[in-house]
Amino acid sequence: MIDFRLTPEQEELVNLARKFAQNEMRPKAAQYDREEKFPRDLLEKAHGLGLLNLRIPPDYGGLGLGCFDECLVVEEFGAACAGMTTTFMSTSLALRPILVGGSEEQKRRWLPGFVERPLIAAFALTEPDSGSDAAGLGCTLRREGDDYLINGTKRFCTNGSQADLITLFATLDRTKRDKAICAIVVEKKKTKGLAVAKDEDKMGIRCSATSELVFEDARVPAANLLGREGEGFKNAMKTLDNTRPWIAAMGVGVTRAAIDHSLDYAMQRRQFGRPLIDFQATQFKLAQMAMEMEAARMMTWKSAWMIDHDLRASKESSIAKAFASDTAMRATTEAVQIHGGYGYIKEYPVEKLMRDAKILQIYEGANEIQRMVIARELMRSRGG
Ligand SMILES: Cc1cc2nc3c(=O)[nH]c(=O)nc-3n(C[C@H](O)[C@H](O)[C@H](O)COP(=O)(O)OP(=O)(O)OC[C@H]3O[C@@H](n4cnc5c(N)ncnc54)[C@H](O)[C@@H]3O)c2cc1C
Repeated sequence: MIDFRLTPEQEELVNLARKFAQNEMRPKAAQYDREEKFPRDLLEKAHGLGLLNLRIPPDYGGLGLGCFDECLVVEEFGAACAGMTTTFMSTSLALRPILVGGSEEQKRRWLPGFVERPLIAAFALTEPDSGSDAAGLGCTLRREGDDYLINGTKRFCTNGSQADLITLFATLDRTKRDKAICAIVVEKKKTKGLAVAKDEDKMGIRCSATSELVFEDARVPAANLLGREGEGFKNAMKTLDNTRPWIAAMGVGVTRAAIDHSLDYAMQRRQFGRPLIDFQATQFKLAQMAMEMEAARMMTWKSAWMIDHDLRASKESSIAKAFASDTAMRATTEAVQIHGGYGYIKEYPVEKLMRDAKILQIYEGANEIQRMVIARELMRSRGG
């Protein structure tokens, strides 16, 4: 039975997230972007309202909500500020490998703290020479007694400089590629030999921290390994399959904001003695944006629903991620066009939306990689 209505609990969750996003996030979005200010205050408020880390199961103190519920919240956050949303959601991304590959003891050790306090986590997969080719990691880990020694550099790690905990992917032997990759939890304060080299100066999502982390003989207890040696790559791929619907949901939120701002502007801006909205060219732009947003939302919801029902969703989550982020890019570009010269000026919010939208096509697997996943799944369906 298909039912597109939200439950009363979901409606309540959406209302809470929307109120927070519109009253707390949106008014600060431009300033935090301009000043590259990390939104710790807002993260703490969102945590206090119970809007973060929604999928931590009740056994570890959490609400145990689903991917679908989380997508509803992310759409609201995304409509207010993609930089803040990226900050908030990267903790959830970083905790997923613990849920995917951690032992019962490890889950009990690390997860409840994130329910009790506004702790921050970071997911460290990407390296200077390993981005789309995630099996080509060069950061190494080597067993020494009861510890692992970690050496290498991680790049573009969201929350890296601010994190209390990092889920790190490193290799025992680079030549063995995915077979030698391990996932391990690094508790930042307890780890000597780990340094934050820099936070990047970015085009968009500027309030989020995108860090370079350097590990030099960083010693981490062997007890922090998630699963067995060599299981890290599978863990990372499972994690990303599971979290891509959020990026899609953020794309829907960004598109929604682009439509809202454009509609407001087109109704009040007059040229040739009439408001812009009277011109069919403007109406068609807005109609196209609305059509694509609706399609992106349905794809997002379907992929999240499949994940919540333990169905294989690699293809659907890649479709949703690629389509919704491409939609956000197109819609924000059109929003700037509808605003004319004013759209190009920082005083108007669509300029930031367009810069922010770009990253959605790149991170958590660039859209070319999503298309590779989709094509692979199509071939698999024919026995390829
Ligand atoms: C702001 C920001 C935040 C990020 N946050 C995180 C994070 O928290 N954790 C983390 O681990 N990573 C993070 N990343 C890294 C991000 O996931 C990577 O940048 C992304 O996966 C692409 O890798 P790359 O930048 O090395 O590009 P490359 O892999 O070098 O790709 C460059 C271009 O080539 C294309 N390409 C590559 N291979 C192929 C192919 N086989 N066929 C066709 N096209 C191809 C790509 O699609 C892309 O367009 C973040 C990046 C940014 C910019």
